[in-house]
Amino acid sequence: MISAISLSDQLVAQQGDRTRVLVVGAGVAGITLAALLRAAGQHPVLVERGRQGQAPGYMLGLLPFVDPVIRRLGVEPAYLERSVGMHRYLLRGATGRRLREYSLDGALAPFGRYRGIAREDLLDVIATENLPVTFGCTVADLAQEDDGVRVVLDEEGARHESVFHAVIGADGLHSGIRDLVLAPGDVSRVDTGWGGWVAWSDADDSPDLYEETWGDGFFVGIYPVLGRTGVFVGGPRSLAAEGPAAMVARVRRALRTRDARTERALAAVGDGYHWAFNDVRSARWTVGRVALLGDAAAGFLPTAGVGASMAMESAAVLADLLTDASPEQVIAAYTAYEGAQRGRVEQAQDSSRQLARLMFRSGRLLTRVRDVATRAISFERAFGPILRLLADRPEPPAARHRLPAQPRKDLA
Ligand SMILES: Cc1cc2nc3c(=O)[nH]c(=O)nc-3n(C[C@H](O)[C@H](O)[C@H](O)COP(=O)(O)OP(=O)(O)OC[C@H]3O[C@@H](n4cnc5c(N)ncnc54)[C@H](O)[C@@H]3O)c2cc1C
Repeated sequence: MISAISLSDQLVAQQGDRTRVLVVGAGVAGITLAALLRAAGQHPVLVERGRQGQAPGYMLGLLPFVDPVIRRLGVEPAYLERSVGMHRYLLRGATGRRLREYSLDGALAPFGRYRGIAREDLLDVIATENLPVTFGCTVADLAQEDDGVRVVLDEEGARHESVFHAVIGADGLHSGIRDLVLAPGDVSRVDTGWGGWVAWSDADDSPDLYEETWGDGFFVGIYPVLGRTGVFVGGPRSLAAEGPAAMVARVRRALRTRDARTERALAAVGDGYHWAFNDVRSARWTVGRVALLGDAAAGFLPTAGVGASMAMESAAVLADLLTDASPEQVIAAYTAYEGAQRGRVEQAQDSSRQLARLMFRSGRLLTRVRDVATRAISFERAFGPILRLLADRPEPPAARHRLPAQPRKDLA
């Protein structure tokens, strides 16, 4: 559970820490990192720009990457209670016809669980007990110095200046910390040209079934979580201005097969935030004493459903390396973190990008050919890169014991 407290209270609580850590962004990655550091006896300052209870609500599918992190946080019972097991995946083609139903158990079971959870429930679970967060607070400016980062924090318009030994930008896809520390040439993006709307419908009698319709110029996803069903309807962004009702009408016209589940999902789509399907990749994850984490480092398209899983895995690796790191060891910890995670995360991001090229298509002939091709592809083949990453998961490293004491001298 998150405990909202003032910035000054967090700064006071941190006074006894040898290494002062600031985490910017109380999302999936920031909360995981802060909770793990607290469990190790540190008092990271965690700030969140948004207001409490106003986090965007959508559904997340979590792959077995998160299982060891959940266990380390000691929240496995709460996680299992507030999520649902995902055992099947149904793919429908351009006209709504069932193409193939895959069992998720065979390929994934050796690695752990695949579960669906609402983002707000996940944040509540991983925050463990009373994780302090200052809401309405962000970084206005920062300056790197030899032995720390001088940070100007803005809490509801009031400015505070503090020095931290480590600053972690866990502030999501549109990271402001990334903008402050990286040159524009260090950031690349993929814009699929598509986007869509999230909605919630009631729970149904298939709470273990993920379902997607890969249409001709549209996409429908049905993703159960505890007690309700997440719905995603998307299409080319050029049509977004027409609004969700027009998109749903297009989908209805295109679908020759429409069962009750799909109909309920489409009926649930109302006005709401339109998500653009863009991603972002940072060529560097660390600059001096500032590190990027989660979507701020490599922000995902929602296609492979792996961004949150990788954000939690990376947060756990960084937490391991920062735990007990002295102020002088922070930069070496960052170097080890980027070395361990950037390649893995970029591989997962490549999978998301490949899937986007397959999913977000328009054109009758092309989508009919895709229907035929996807029927023939096994889950193991389609999901191969993610399965390989699961097989090669980082061991809890305790790599901090190998950290050199001297800081790197290449601060940018
Ligand atoms: C619709 C949708 C569906 C998705 N489905 C899946 C899925 O099924 N499975 C999956 O693994 N991933 C999925 N993802 C991706 C996943 O949500 C992200 O990869 C994951 O949340 C990344 O975690 P994060 O902590 O880096 O970012 P976030 O969880 O986005 O958290 C960033 C936090 O930083 C805060 N913040 C932003 N700017 C500032 C600032 N300047 N100062 C302070 N705080 C700031 C934000 O308010 C937010 O709380 C989906 C994404 C979307 C949009």
